[in-house]
Amino acid sequence: MDKKMILLNPGPVNVSERVRRALMQSDMCHRENEFSVLQEAVRQGLLAVYGLPKARYTSVILTGSGTAAVEAMVTSIVPPNGKLLMLKNGVYGERIAAIAKAHGIAFTMVEHEWGQELDRYRIEEALKSDPAISHIAAIHHETTTGRLNDLGMISELARTYGKVLLIDGVSSFGGEELNFDEWNIGAVCATANKCLHGIPGISFVVVRRELLEQIDFQPRSVYLDLRGYYREQERGGTPFTQTVQVLYALDEALREFQEQGGWRARHEKYRQLAQYIRTRAQELGIKMYLEEGMLASTLTAFRLPHGMSYQTLHDHLKAAGFIIYAGQGEAGKVMFRIANMGEIEKTDIDRLFVAMQEVV
Ligand SMILES: *Cc1c(COP(=O)(O)O)cnc(C)c1O
Repeated sequence: MDKKMILLNPGPVNVSERVRRALMQSDMCHRENEFSVLQEAVRQGLLAVYGLPKARYTSVILTGSGTAAVEAMVTSIVPPNGKLLMLKNGVYGERIAAIAKAHGIAFTMVEHEWGQELDRYRIEEALKSDPAISHIAAIHHETTTGRLNDLGMISELARTYGKVLLIDGVSSFGGEELNFDEWNIGAVCATANKCLHGIPGISFVVVRRELLEQIDFQPRSVYLDLRGYYREQERGGTPFTQTVQVLYALDEALREFQEQGGWRARHEKYRQLAQYIRTRAQELGIKMYLEEGMLASTLTAFRLPHGMSYQTLHDHLKAAGFIIYAGQGEAGKVMFRIANMGEIEKTDIDRLFVAMQEVV
């Protein structure tokens, strides 16, 4: 199994050789000064992705996949007397509901069909009718369908009604615009191995310091206690063993990210690749799952060609060296997805469509 696969799934992504090589550095104890230096560099590097000032924002690093950061954010920030308003139009909105349920956090949900645009009117009605709501949780890029949710609109409502905004930016951080100040974002959680082109194993929350400083309740979780990590990391420590080698790789990936021009350059590269993929698919008569509204630049959901199962398409493309991604749940029967994050070039997409043409 040494054949290089082009990963067109929404994370983990293909990484560059320099990021892969960064894994091979010396073994290190997470209680030594060298680790503090590395951890601090990565924490600063994460703030630098959106040019955030250290005085007002901080980043907290966790060993775990993206969901660990989502769960840490929600369970550490919403207090026992708080209530979460969840905006759901896909699987990841449902996951936040599952997290709230598992931890006994009060919530109410504005539900939409998968892929549907978030409905400003219904969100505002929910906010008006339930003054107990203290926080709004939204998914930025709903990876289920490729819908980019309108954070500008949500942030306006959050500001008008005085709610704290918590964002799942796992598949957008580093690849889409995230306007922390203007949108008054409280916290965004994300992962090393999507738009940042790192290795799976580290996730993080970028958050306003005041939100962490305000936490005054018993943690709901020992391992996912954001405030506990924050306190330790501010002192250069860590409450638990971090995945040191993956941190090396993320440090390198963040350097590479800046050298390549930061989030704007990455967004532009993704946007062009996604556009190219959509055009090439259209030429083969493959229809997009969502046709209008704001679409992410990192992924496109398509309808499976008539009479073709996902498995057939997947297996043929895999044999040619490409991993595509199924639709989730019921959508698995009608949808497939192509993500374009990671170390991927236009020539890879050309080869993908040679293989696609053979099977369609
Ligand atoms: C990938 C993803 C996650 C987290 O998935 P993990 O498998 O835990 O890394 C969460 N939210 C969104 C929107 C995602 O795309």
